[in-house]
Amino acid sequence: MSNERSALVIGAGLGGLALAIRLQASGIPTTLLEARDKPGGRAYVYNDQGFTFDAGPTVITDPSAIEALFTLAGRPMQDYVELLPVTPFYRLCWEDGRAFDYGNDQADLERQIEAFEPKDVEGYRQFLAYSKAVLQEGYIKLGAVPFLSFRDMLHAGPQLARLQAWRSVYSMVARFIQDDQLRQAFSFHALLVGGNPFATSSIYTLIHALERTWGVWFPKGGTGALVQGMAKLFTDLGGTLELNAKVAAFETQGSRVTGVRTQDGRHWLADAVASNADVVHTYSDLLGEHPRGEQEGKRLKGKRFSNSLFVVHFGLKRTQPQLRHHTVCFGPRYRELIDEIFNGHELAEDFSLYLHTPCATDPSLAPEGCSSHYVLAPVPHMGNAAIDWEVEGPRFRDKILDYLERHYIPGLREDLVTCRTFTPLDFREELNAHLGSAFSLEPILTQSAWFRPHNRDSQVSNLYLVGAGTHPGAGVPGVIASAKATAGLMLEDLGA
Ligand SMILES: Cc1cc2nc3c(=O)[nH]c(=O)nc-3n(C[C@H](O)[C@H](O)[C@H](O)COP(=O)(O)OP(=O)(O)OC[C@H]3O[C@@H](n4cnc5c(N)ncnc54)[C@H](O)[C@@H]3O)c2cc1C
Repeated sequence: MSNERSALVIGAGLGGLALAIRLQASGIPTTLLEARDKPGGRAYVYNDQGFTFDAGPTVITDPSAIEALFTLAGRPMQDYVELLPVTPFYRLCWEDGRAFDYGNDQADLERQIEAFEPKDVEGYRQFLAYSKAVLQEGYIKLGAVPFLSFRDMLHAGPQLARLQAWRSVYSMVARFIQDDQLRQAFSFHALLVGGNPFATSSIYTLIHALERTWGVWFPKGGTGALVQGMAKLFTDLGGTLELNAKVAAFETQGSRVTGVRTQDGRHWLADAVASNADVVHTYSDLLGEHPRGEQEGKRLKGKRFSNSLFVVHFGLKRTQPQLRHHTVCFGPRYRELIDEIFNGHELAEDFSLYLHTPCATDPSLAPEGCSSHYVLAPVPHMGNAAIDWEVEGPRFRDKILDYLERHYIPGLREDLVTCRTFTPLDFREELNAHLGSAFSLEPILTQSAWFRPHNRDSQVSNLYLVGAGTHPGAGVPGVIASAKATAGLMLEDLGA
């Protein structure tokens, strides 16, 4: 028997993978248990008839946080994954035919802003300066600091007050920028992490500075190649990755977790257990046999959860040179539509879409001469809207594809080779996501930092959280930062 202290990580999403790498690289023998047949979680990959479809994240920001994992492990990142720059970052399109190529060239941005509203050039400069200040305070200084006590929150208080964190993303953008479409262009980013731009703290304007500072990237071979690279780094370091290993329950003794039981009846022992699975699933289902699980699960169910997403992956027998890698297709309504997505009880008639065209950066993701895509529409989660997705899904898919054919991809229907959908029901069933939320707890100020489920449980002393449901929150940089915060606590507790 070895005296080594070991760890278990439940769930191989990007947060779980990053945590497992950090633990293993620090000498803690780590086992990563993943319920599905592939790692990645929301960054899962589908392969249909030669087309590669990334299921989730496609806008990769802050590559330095990813590279830090390889550096820490003493391996060159380029041996595992290559990140390609994406230009423009996004093409933003409106139904009146106007478009905005949002990228990293200040002069080009100012020229485009001037064409919308000359007065907004100066306003944009001020907005960028504000957003950079928030990046420094909210992400660089506090992103990977675990907020375990209210005192930590009080320490951050003066900075948050100075940055007017109580204001919403939209209201802060609107302070600097007058044009309605430009206000949309600089506030929609909150949606990338499940935030309502009209309710989420202005701290989330830092995403703009994050993109302007480090650029927008895409892994060669797709986001799935990043997942594979991280999984390989973990196993190369000696870590154990068990796929098709769905955890059924944590096993506890008093206020400690001793290990977990998988659905196939196997028992896994460890000195510390971290969950990358949905936070409600973690407490209510996995820790449900312990009083803490029942109590915390119930408390979390009373929180506000992010919206869900309706995603259509489709392969076409033609390339689409008119499309950029990332297109945001704004629909006819902005504020009202967002309100219906976050607070409404039914599916709106209209939509705004994000269209992914990865072959613009890496043609290898589709057979020669073809193109792979996904399109997503933010939709209400299942707790707000009782939509029968089995019935509504195919109709909604057809409506979206017709819209794309009319506005963006002529001949789409005729060129369609393959098509699959992922609905809020799939988020719930495939990923154990509470209410089918795509991003876990909504990132409002009263559910952020200390107010978010903590990186280490306050009562079960060797149980930890990592990923979108804990601090700092959803999005690739968020969950990778959460892994840093959680690893710091675990390594200290394990005496590594
Ligand atoms: C469609 C979509 C597009 C997105 N686009 C972007 C983007 O462009 N840029 C960006 O930065 N972010 C984006 N996001 C957000 C980002 O993808 C997520 O916030 C992030 O990937 C979540 O990572 P996570 O570590 O929380 O784990 P998850 O991806 O949630 O993974 C959790 C894992 O736990 C496993 N699991 C659950 N229960 C169990 C169990 N009982 N036993 C074992 N395993 C279990 C699941 O199978 C899963 O693999 C997007 C999200 C979606 C859904």
